[in-house]
Amino acid sequence: MFTYHMPTKITAGENAVKNSPAELILGSKAIIVTGKTSGKRSGALNDAVSVLDEHSIPYMIYDKVENNPSIESTAEGGAAAREFGADFIIAIGGGSPLDAAKAIAVYAANTPGDDFKLYDIFTGSYKNKPLPMTAIPTTAGTGSEVTPYSILTLHREQTKKSFSSPEVFFKTAFLDGRYIAELPLQTARNTAVDALSHLIEGFTNKNSSPSSDYIALEGLRVLGNNISILKDGRPPAELCTDFLWAATLGGMVIAQTGTTIVHSMGYPLTYHKNIPHGMANGLLLGEYMRRADLEMPWKTDLYLEALGMDSIDEVCALLKALLPCDTVFTEEELTEWTKTSIKAKNVRSCPFDVTRELEINMYKKCLL
Ligand code: NAP
Ligand code: FE
Repeated sequence: MFTYHMPTKITAGENAVKNSPAELILGSKAIIVTGKTSGKRSGALNDAVSVLDEHSIPYMIYDKVENNPSIESTAEGGAAAREFGADFIIAIGGGSPLDAAKAIAVYAANTPGDDFKLYDIFTGSYKNKPLPMTAIPTTAGTGSEVTPYSILTLHREQTKKSFSSPEVFFKTAFLDGRYIAELPLQTARNTAVDALSHLIEGFTNKNSSPSSDYIALEGLRVLGNNISILKDGRPPAELCTDFLWAATLGGMVIAQTGTTIVHSMGYPLTYHKNIPHGMANGLLLGEYMRRADLEMPWKTDLYLEALGMDSIDEVCALLKALLPCDTVFTEEELTEWTKTSIKAKNVRSCPFDVTRELEINMYKKCLL
């Protein structure tokens, strides 16, 4: 038995935002949640604002979302939304603003206080429904526009942690390849590797199903046709839509399956060493693929064929070319990080048994 649930209505194509006001305007007063540069640089903020102006919808712009948003800062965003009286959210940016918007939607509708504590967001024990949201991704990686997850920095546990609820699926999402055309090259690479990681982790996941596998193979085919281009430079305009679509397909896959230890082991790399999310996954993905291959070699054959690659070694060579990383790690810190990473939920989604020793060995093979 399996289920497939992905309730986000996607509108894709050039000028999707301007051409579909009904999908953008989900209420009478908007808060636009974005980062310092992503909204402006992509052109998405201008497009959204022009539609709101045209329809006389009042809005405020909350552009304080930092990379890897923290739980505290999203609570501030929630307070700003409440104060302004926003009844819907427009999230514009990469995974950081999109994930922040999901938490802001919860905090806007539920004031942290006596009955509802800041950290209760992780257990889903809030009373009021989060505000409705629309997403305009400006990176092609996380697929957050179609997932029920929000990954937040949790300083008190010195890591990142996700919360998940069907109530934080975006109601609508807009895919316009033009918005990723100005991505800095290394961000384009990191985010494409995040998408690759979602597709492979989802395809080899214990929770995978015929529907998620079908979508994963299509995502791998689209990404495999294009990803090598990033070795030489940014994606040309005509391929931006494909990168964005592959990332959204990756999101549709992990919305069903969840991720694996590639993600949970990657979080400390981001928290402690400031390594961007997609790069952190890419540094660990090669060793994950080798271990998954021992359990399900037929799946390796299928995903390599979809990617148009001959071997795991070929995927690893591509990852190496895309992810220059000179960060130095010590055995002590890697061992320490597994104390947290071994507790993550997605340990159970791996196609192989995961112990702390396995995680320590995997870190050492990939990072020392
Ligand atoms: P990001 O942190 O959202 O953005 C990285 C950088 O790129 C930021 O400086 C951002 O600027 C800039 N940027 C974004 N779009 C741009 C554009 N079009 N032009 C120029 N610069 C642009 O990176 P991300 O990889 O997309 O998201 C990573 C986050 O998503 C992590 O927190 C990760 O854990 C999470 N994630 C979530 C899911 C999920 O299912 N929800 C899945 C995987 C990862 P600004 O400073 O303006 O933002
Ligand atoms: Fe990811």
